[in-house]
Amino acid sequence: MREEITRQIRVVWNRGRGRFRPTVSRHAAARGIHGNVCNKGPYVEIYAQGPEEAVSGFISDIENRPPKRAAILKINVENIENSERYTQFDIIESEKTKGEIFVSPDIAICEECKEEMFDPKNRRYLHPFINCTCCGPRLTILDSLPYDRERTSMKEFPMCPDCAKEYNAPATRRYDAQPVCCNECGPEVYLIGREERGREAITYARKTIAGGGIVAIKGIGGFHLCCDASNETAVRKLRQLKRRPMKPFAVMAKNLEAVRKECEVSAEQTRILDGHQKPILLLDKKKEAKILCPSVAPGNPKVGVMLPYAPVQLLIFRYDDGIKMPEFLVMTSGNTSGAPICRDDREAEAELSGFCDCMLSHDRKIRIRADDSVMDFYENKPYMIRRSRGYAPLPFMVSTPYRGQVLAIGGELKNSFCIGVDNRFYPSPYVGDLEDLRTVKALRETVGRMETLLEVEPEIVCCDMHPKYNSVMVAEELGLPVVKVQHHYAHILSCMAENDCAEQVIGVSFDGTGYGTDGTIWGGEILLSDLDGFTRVGSVMPFLQVGGDASSKEGWRIAVSLIYGMTGDRKKAAEITEKLELCTKQEANVQFTMADRKINAVISTSAGRLFDGVSAMLGIRRKSTFEGEASMALEFAAEEYRETMLEKSKHKFRKLKNMVTIKRIQILSIEMKIC
Ligand code: ZN
Ligand code: ZN
Repeated sequence: MREEITRQIRVVWNRGRGRFRPTVSRHAAARGIHGNVCNKGPYVEIYAQGPEEAVSGFISDIENRPPKRAAILKINVENIENSERYTQFDIIESEKTKGEIFVSPDIAICEECKEEMFDPKNRRYLHPFINCTCCGPRLTILDSLPYDRERTSMKEFPMCPDCAKEYNAPATRRYDAQPVCCNECGPEVYLIGREERGREAITYARKTIAGGGIVAIKGIGGFHLCCDASNETAVRKLRQLKRRPMKPFAVMAKNLEAVRKECEVSAEQTRILDGHQKPILLLDKKKEAKILCPSVAPGNPKVGVMLPYAPVQLLIFRYDDGIKMPEFLVMTSGNTSGAPICRDDREAEAELSGFCDCMLSHDRKIRIRADDSVMDFYENKPYMIRRSRGYAPLPFMVSTPYRGQVLAIGGELKNSFCIGVDNRFYPSPYVGDLEDLRTVKALRETVGRMETLLEVEPEIVCCDMHPKYNSVMVAEELGLPVVKVQHHYAHILSCMAENDCAEQVIGVSFDGTGYGTDGTIWGGEILLSDLDGFTRVGSVMPFLQVGGDASSKEGWRIAVSLIYGMTGDRKKAAEITEKLELCTKQEANVQFTMADRKINAVISTSAGRLFDGVSAMLGIRRKSTFEGEASMALEFAAEEYRETMLEKSKHKFRKLKNMVTIKRIQILSIEMKIC
């Protein structure tokens, strides 16, 4: 008997016209796989049995050679122990699984639609809303299920006879495509507060960008602010207007070729960058890069890059009006700092008109906001930094049997929430910082919309333990039983759910701040955790965080406080502080006094603040203009140091670039003999 394994594979796809099961069956036959495939409504479920190598090959066939026009959004693979034995591969007739809801995320424009859009002979030539069964907006235009035109914001645009014909003919690639439209019947682009519409509006926006101006553009999930990323004056102006001196801007590249000129891109990164979901990917800038101007991501070896995913974005790069456009555009969320991304003209006029020279909008309403998703790579594998457009609300499926409906309201900063239904967890798109009351309003509204879409009525709501968080207020006003979960334990539980892990784990959660069970500020925590609870087995050594809110932006305050805490001697601490040029004598004295009298001082184990403090001690950053700036600069300096050391060991001695930092490390180690 052959050595066999059995895997359960669940594939979430766009359910376009491509039929999935026959393709799966063909791949199974080619690899000699036994088992079956069944359409479960929200996903296709496959049982694959065979030698390990054959099963792996089969899974990669599904991933790499799906049916034509199928957009695979998620693959979940699980090992099945003691499976029944299959003797052949069957296609099982669909059983409609009750209560399992599938809401598709928005899908980036497909290759075929792209070709049609730039084909002068096609009737959708240059149509800014072109889409088909396997691409286009979904979540952001949906009112409720089932997904049909009447329940989307496309209901205001009755189909013309030609579109209706395609929609009703099974042989076309727009059969049953709910947002189908054309230049005759679809929505229209226009400039807010100006007369230009359609073609003229697009040309005007392009001319503005090419001339160094800033344009707000309404896309799929909200507005972006956009300018030429190679024009230093334009980017600086945007920074000034947005009051964002340093925080990196994401850019949109015209195409992959442009990305390759400027950044290092691996094959795996290319696949994600140019896939159906088109997130922002953090890529290493090439040494010889010179298209992007310095202000895009100052002092940062990486840059966040994405490719156009909405037809209108492609038209901004390429149109038939003879205007020469740059290869890269800054594409930053259209909002004021902390507020949610603007999604309609009223919000754009109120918040963005002061930041830009014109606003290119359209009359297809956005029901749910969706910011761009952000991903990074570690050891050549992708990981999510911000899960939003293209990914939310694809559910995480866990094998632990759980019955019930729960709403987890999420954290205070960078909020997103999650709805749990039985063993499926649907994350929301990114909501924003709840310190801003506009974001609180957006949270309430998005929770309501997601509950309607997923047809759930949660029995319980989970929230943070912090007594003053707005997220907690939103949870409590729902009138449901409230379960408060410690911040870092919640991080670890999320990580466990994402990896479908139910066993006890050593959870390492290194974070800015979270309210601890002892009322102090936690941050860098090691928690022995399982599904029932946790034990705090380790943390960053507690230190006194002096200076209240200011200390989260001003790392020098943490540095002074750390030095004072470790020396325990005012005079000695003052000497070191002075040598390191952390602050004036007077400022240091104020910090010492506040520490002595415990004024504006909290016990903290924050990993973020510790990094900020070290960054200040080493003379890398005394202050941050955005969250994480000092820590990021510390990381870049460490990476640069490692590279320099590697080179040094290869060649002969080379002078270290950052002699200042080295000198400071010496001062610190001599003076403090490392406590
Ligand atoms: Zn398409
Ligand atoms: Zn039409």
